[in-house]
Amino acid sequence: MDVSTLTIKDIKKLLESGEITAESLAGFYLERIKAQNTDLNAFIEIADDVIAQAKAIDVKRAAGEDVGVLGGVPIGIKNNILVQGWEVTSSAQILEGHIGAYDATVIQRLKDAGAILVGRTNMDDAAMGSSTETSHYGPTKNPWDKTKVPGGSSGGSAAAVAAGLVPVALGSDTGGSVRQPASLCGLTGLKPTYGRVSRYGLIAMASSFDQIGPIAHTVEDAALVLSVIEGKDPKDGTSVELPNTTIAELVDTDIKGMKIGLPKEYFIDGIDPEIKKSVMEAVEEFKKAGAEIHEISLPHAEYALAAYYIIMPAEASSNLGRMDGLRFGYHSGGENLLETYSRTRGEGFGPEVQRRIMLGSYTLSAGYYDAYYRKALQVRTLIKQDFDEALKAVDVILTPTSPTVAWSLGEKMDDPLAMYLADIFTISANLATVPAMSIPCGFTKDLPIGLQLIGRPFGEYDLFKMGAYYQSVTDWHEKSPE
Ligand code: GLN
Repeated sequence: MDVSTLTIKDIKKLLESGEITAESLAGFYLERIKAQNTDLNAFIEIADDVIAQAKAIDVKRAAGEDVGVLGGVPIGIKNNILVQGWEVTSSAQILEGHIGAYDATVIQRLKDAGAILVGRTNMDDAAMGSSTETSHYGPTKNPWDKTKVPGGSSGGSAAAVAAGLVPVALGSDTGGSVRQPASLCGLTGLKPTYGRVSRYGLIAMASSFDQIGPIAHTVEDAALVLSVIEGKDPKDGTSVELPNTTIAELVDTDIKGMKIGLPKEYFIDGIDPEIKKSVMEAVEEFKKAGAEIHEISLPHAEYALAAYYIIMPAEASSNLGRMDGLRFGYHSGGENLLETYSRTRGEGFGPEVQRRIMLGSYTLSAGYYDAYYRKALQVRTLIKQDFDEALKAVDVILTPTSPTVAWSLGEKMDDPLAMYLADIFTISANLATVPAMSIPCGFTKDLPIGLQLIGRPFGEYDLFKMGAYYQSVTDWHEKSPE
């Protein structure tokens, strides 16, 4: 059976009708992984109990028991989300050998919903990067063109779904790490509103930005997974109580009268003209369905990247302080405690992570705090106000997800600024804590293009409605690399 393009919806039908068992389905995916993963490096480890998990679902189903909304659906897990008993390292040498002591809340919820946890997917070193090349386990390749990057930092999750190794995977998004790889691999990726999904058990990068989100083929699949993992969690004080939502039931794709804002600051020179063209063609599609298009302004957009690269390293430098070589993972001995710390951290953190720890420690230090960190927080507030203002006048904001399509492996590795610029369109949503989703909208040079929809806080349903409408009239999301 060719499972490579199956959606969760397809899988549920096959399983519910008895056409296939969860065990045989898992077997098909494992075969694909075996055939393709050595080359792609999307998964860095496959769980040894995949078949056992699937069998347990089959037994339950045969006994007439409730198997859960994801009963028998295989899923890939980014290597920074804790699963009890799995080695989970954030693809950083410093966490080598670190075993998850408990399940992240999202994992607990996936297990309760009957999902089959297939294995851990590759990512940039400590989630810092936009290409999955800084991983301690080596780079992941883009299934559309194996000489290109899959994006990052959740590049392993995106490559795994694009190659049909799993129908869906979890990523985490601090500055674009779900949306940008989804865009570069031709997939649907959602960064939820900050607080919608619990961060408990996610290895912290920048705690005021981090959100876990799904990477899938379709908006409907992403919505379904979100409905499983979302919601208040007493173990994460920033998670919120959600009103009764209907996101799992996307019946309404009538977008007539919905207002779409096109921020003029996002359609500037520097973006690939082919990307602009595809995104504007998508805008025409929305217009045809009766959506209203408005030009809007997000006047502080140009400061977003600068503010992010002050605040994010500041938070990361503090979060990574706990990785001292004594409590978790990698350890390099020294004559005394200080030497142990500096050896462990010097050897265990890669160059990009060290750069950010230094930047963050600098901007948080006495004398520089007001000049950099506090100023960046003030800019963050202005950016948030831009979005609040704009989203009073329009329901959603539409932009390209990434200024370029996938680039060649190695191309930006010596130029951190060029790498940071890959996130220019995604980081604002993290700064403003609003939900944002990337969906495929075309190709150039045989590589996928993505557009981004940004919504009001907890306005995911608007994004899903727009996205599901778009996917009902286009077939970009049905294309696959083979
Ligand atoms: N590429 C961005 C960074 O390196 C975003 C990373 C992320 O979202 N985890 O900070």
